[in-house]
Amino acid sequence: MRRIWESKFLPWVFLLLGLLFSCLIAWKCALWIDEKEQIRFQTASNTITNLIYKELNAHIQLIRSVAAFMCVSPENISREKWKQFAIKNHINEQFLGLRALGYAPLVHPQERLKYEQAVRHEEGFADYAISQKNVSSNTALFPIMYLEPMSEMNEKAFGFDLASEITRREALHQSFIRADATVSSKINLTQKYITDNQVGFSIFFPLYQTKDIPTSTEERLASAKGVLFIAIDAKKMFEQLLKSHYSLVDFEIYDGSAPLEQNLLYNSNPNLIDSRLSGYTSLELYGKIWTLHFKAKEVFEMSDSRYYPWIQMLFSLIFFSVFAGLIYVLQRTRKKAYAIANEKTKQLSQSEAEIRSIFQSMQEGVMVLDDKGVILECNLAAQEMLQLSKSDIVGNFSYNSKWSAIYEDGSVFNKEDYPSLMAINSSLPQNNVILGIRRKDGSLIWVQTNAQPIFSDNFDKIRSVLITFSDITAYRKSKRELEKYLQIIDTHVIISSTDTDGIITEVSEKFCQISGYSKEELIGKSHHLVRHPDMPSTLYEEMWTSLKKGIPWYGEIKNRSKKGVDYWIEAIIAPRYNEEYQLIGYTAVHHDITDKKRVEELSITDRLTGLYNRLKLDELFAYHLSIVKRHQTSFSIILLDIDKFKLVNDTYGHQVGDSLLQAIATLLKRNIREEDAVGRWGGEEFLILLPETKSDAACLLAEKLRRLVEAENFEYAGNRTASFGVATYHANDDETSMVARADEALYRAKEKGRNRVDLELYSLTTS
Ligand code: GH3
Ligand code: MG
Ligand code: MG
Repeated sequence: MRRIWESKFLPWVFLLLGLLFSCLIAWKCALWIDEKEQIRFQTASNTITNLIYKELNAHIQLIRSVAAFMCVSPENISREKWKQFAIKNHINEQFLGLRALGYAPLVHPQERLKYEQAVRHEEGFADYAISQKNVSSNTALFPIMYLEPMSEMNEKAFGFDLASEITRREALHQSFIRADATVSSKINLTQKYITDNQVGFSIFFPLYQTKDIPTSTEERLASAKGVLFIAIDAKKMFEQLLKSHYSLVDFEIYDGSAPLEQNLLYNSNPNLIDSRLSGYTSLELYGKIWTLHFKAKEVFEMSDSRYYPWIQMLFSLIFFSVFAGLIYVLQRTRKKAYAIANEKTKQLSQSEAEIRSIFQSMQEGVMVLDDKGVILECNLAAQEMLQLSKSDIVGNFSYNSKWSAIYEDGSVFNKEDYPSLMAINSSLPQNNVILGIRRKDGSLIWVQTNAQPIFSDNFDKIRSVLITFSDITAYRKSKRELEKYLQIIDTHVIISSTDTDGIITEVSEKFCQISGYSKEELIGKSHHLVRHPDMPSTLYEEMWTSLKKGIPWYGEIKNRSKKGVDYWIEAIIAPRYNEEYQLIGYTAVHHDITDKKRVEELSITDRLTGLYNRLKLDELFAYHLSIVKRHQTSFSIILLDIDKFKLVNDTYGHQVGDSLLQAIATLLKRNIREEDAVGRWGGEEFLILLPETKSDAACLLAEKLRRLVEAENFEYAGNRTASFGVATYHANDDETSMVARADEALYRAKEKGRNRVDLELYSLTTS
């Protein structure tokens, strides 16, 4: 089932709910602010109403106290007393908007002139005359008699008949009926004497002729004596009133019970027309009803307060939008994560299937064991190698009665030596352990086993062990055979291997045997160790040239063993390469040809002296002659004969003669060049072949040899001498002709007294 948080509508639902919630909160907040605003507006309105009421009451109290002052002592009613009263009560400062406090006596029309005259004469106002707005002959007059403060403006009102103006007349008339302070309707304070156009109202207080206030209306009117009044400038009064009380609301005051434009007494803010807040209150005061209209744009100090719901809604909307966005992102991330997880799970199960098929198809036996060594899993190869079914293997330890493991020497494996247990106990992998497995039917297979411990994720303990083993029975058999053959080769074939510098890296047993050196003595050395001094360096140079080119070298080499025994080998030396076809050294397979060489040597060697025999000398002579003829080089021979040799034999015996022959042979051999050849020509005569040698060089050599023989003190034979005959090749010479000329020269040397060198006559005559 699709869960709710997977629904794609969820962010929208949250957004919608957030929107509704935001609206609700904003609406509630707006209501609350409205309510607060209304309360504040109402409170402010009430405060102003109370202030107005209080201020009017103050004026009423003033007029009442004037009335009391006049009633208590009628004699007080004098212009001077009146003035003093006004000053004493600070009427200008203490009563807001007070324009004038005055007294107007009732004057009947018929007494008008008398009254005017009395004022002119008694009061001293010569120009005094009652002034009227609308002249009416038969109504009582209320001319202003006392007026304070007597400012220039008020002075002009002196004598004005209050009853001549209808609003004032109605109000003062009403005051007599009410017998109490009475507020007039809106009056225009502008008189014909007053220039500024101001609105206001008056408060009248009736004074009766009787001490007590008459009870009926008619009596009250009949006993009217005069009237006290206060003229109030509405604008001044309310402005001053507001000055001391800061208010957030404005107001309009209308005379009457309806807010009619023509009855407007005061407007605190005429500019405020489209007020947002508005309220009306009626104020009943002393016979009058005023309508107060309160108005305001704001009642909070911070005008932004009204925007709070909107701000709140905006933030709320942002919050829910972000929240919905977050849900959307989370959903997407979750969806992606699920998609990835599904894909990975699919890949994992695929790779698991692949691994399982690899596991099963592996040629190697594989087992998985738990941390105690119990087999949990095995593949087909393992089953085949052990000749057991999976159910027979799984659940067992590596060591069990179904098979047994043996060491290579045939002894039975100790339990703790099993690679699996070794891996568990040591926490180390066990590699290439070779063991034989004796199966249930008694057959034996050999396996090479690896045991790899597998650790838990934090590597603190072994989770399982992976055992792999391969059947090496056939390999082991062929290896053993190979070893056998190698053993045979090692024992019977002379093999040596060197690196590229000719340093021995490996030698066979046979090599050691024939050379007389141990492996340790040979490895790390060069073949120089066994080199025979007779072997010319040219042979080795030729060998290295060939090998450096990668060409195998074949040849016969005479070596000398550690004990000084000479032996001959026939060698095949071939370069050796590694897997990357890089030259890594040389391998030489040698064949012992000492016997063959011995026979060969014997056939060309004079037995007594070890020098070449006549046969070999003939062969070499022919060879050199062929070279001389082909290349036109020089060639000389020296024939020498020991002087008086017969005497040695005769004196010391034949053996001493033999040893003298050997000693002279050695001397000769040592003192000729490598390319020269010396042999026993016969008896006590020796022939030396000197290729590429002219007669003078041959004579010098002969002379050198003569001196050496002469200088040598031979064992038993003592000092001996020899005579030398030298011959050089000339055109068409052959062995016979050359030897004949040398023999002739030798003969001459003998003739001339022995122990000397003679050159052939041929050379002497031609040179
Ligand atoms: P010279 O040459 O000075 O004229 O006197 P000679 O005494 O050397 O005379 P000659 O050359 O005729 O003598 C050669 C002698 O050398 C003869 C022979 O008995 C001796 N002789 C030859 N071969 C051998 C040998 O193999 N061993 C020994 N001991 N003597 C030999
Ligand atoms: Mg001689
Ligand atoms: Mg001789």
